[in-house]
Parts: sequence; structure tokens; C-alpha cells
Amino acid sequence: GVCVVAVDGPSGSGKSTVSRRLAAALEARYLDTGAMYRAVTWAVLEAGVDPHDRIEVARVAESVRLEIGIDPDRPFVRVNGVPVDGPIRGPEVTRAVSAVSAVPDVRALMVAQQRALILSAGRIVVEGRDIGTVVVPDADLKVYLTASVDERARRRSLEHATDQSATAADLTRRDKLDSSRAADPLRRADDAVELDTTRLGIDEVVTRLREMLGV
Ligand code: C5P
Repeated sequence: GVCVVAVDGPSGSGKSTVSRRLAAALEARYLDTGAMYRAVTWAVLEAGVDPHDRIEVARVAESVRLEIGIDPDRPFVRVNGVPVDGPIRGPEVTRAVSAVSAVPDVRALMVAQQRALILSAGRIVVEGRDIGTVVVPDADLKVYLTASVDERARRRSLEHATDQSATAADLTRRDKLDSSRAADPLRRADDAVELDTTRLGIDEVVTRLREMLGV
């Protein structure tokens, strides 16, 4: 049977909701790798470190203890025992996360932890930016979700009660940083199935993925 489903794509593409729902439907585990990069970013800001200082950022990433829940029904993230689920979604972390996740040492640490979690899980849905290309290149199913910038901004601004055009500008900025960085840029794996979710509801996307998996 299928063991690992890799779900990649830009923010607002529906990745998180779809991945969580799919994991619950498959009675699988769920790993949100974006939450891990966000948690390290929170620790960087908390330590008063400049997110662009690669040496200090790497030092923070090496020294923090990250815990992430992989039950799709109750995800959580802790940094050195402190729950950070709220703050990692805030504007400060969102502004700084692309810089932190561009540091190669940070990526190496995260990918190692992710692979260990995935190995321990058995059946799991993993969402991120580099899952199909780097973290699990031999995943049983690779999906790349997309949606128009306007639709992605609409979803994000509903979620965070923010202004849609400011959100669109922020998404575009983050996409550009994430897809132009030297280390493991955001891109679709050659063997990933691309799904445009602009006009699809969550249930429709989940149903299509279940059809692809034959479950
Ligand atoms: O998915 P989410 O929006 O929470 O991801 C936040 C940021 O974390 C992304 O903009 C990207 O910079 C980084 N990220 C990454 N690799 C992943 C997941 C997230 O670089 N696998």
C-alpha cells in the first residue's frame, strides 16, 4: 500500500487543509514542514538574532529542541518545550521565514528531522516546498498544488482577517524568495501531479487525491 504522500506548492494553494484532511481520511500521520521552518524562525526572532545573519541563524537552529505533532487531528509545535502554534502564524514570523529557510544549515537540520519522523510514521502525508524533490524523492504519490495569486490571497486574507491586496503582495514576495533561493528552491518535482485548485473546493481536491491513490 501507499506509504508517503508528498504535497508541495506555494502558500494559499490549499496544501495544509488538503494534507490534513487527506491524512485523517487515510488514517495516516501528517507532517507540516512549513511549521518547522516557522518554529525555527520564531526562535531566531525570540533570540534577537537578525534573520539574515546566516551564522547566527544556523546556531539557533542547532541549539533549539523542536517538537512537532504528527496526528492530523491535533497538530502542535513546541520550541524548547514552549507551544508556539499561535505565534508562528503571526506577521513577524511570516515576514522572516523565507530568509531563515534559505540558510543551507537550517535546511539540512530540518530535512534530517523530517526524514526521521517520516520513517517512524509508516503512513504519512507530508506537506511543504521540497518534499517531492528533496525530502522524499521516492514518495508513493507526489502532488503539486497551485492556484492563482488572487485566489491564494483571498484564502489567506480570510484566514488571517488581513487586507487582500497586501496579502497578495506578501505572497508574491515570498514565492519569489522561495523559488529563487540557491538551496532547494520551491519547484515542482518532474514526476509530481500538478493540480490547480483555483476553482476546486477542499473536498473535491481530497477526493481527486484519493482517486489517484485508489483509496
Ligand atoms: O507552508 P508555509 O507557508 O507555512 O511555509 C512557510 C515558509 O517556510 C515558506 O515560505 C518557505 O520559505 C519555508 N518552507 C521551506 N521548505 C518547506 C516548507 C516551508 O523552505 N518544506
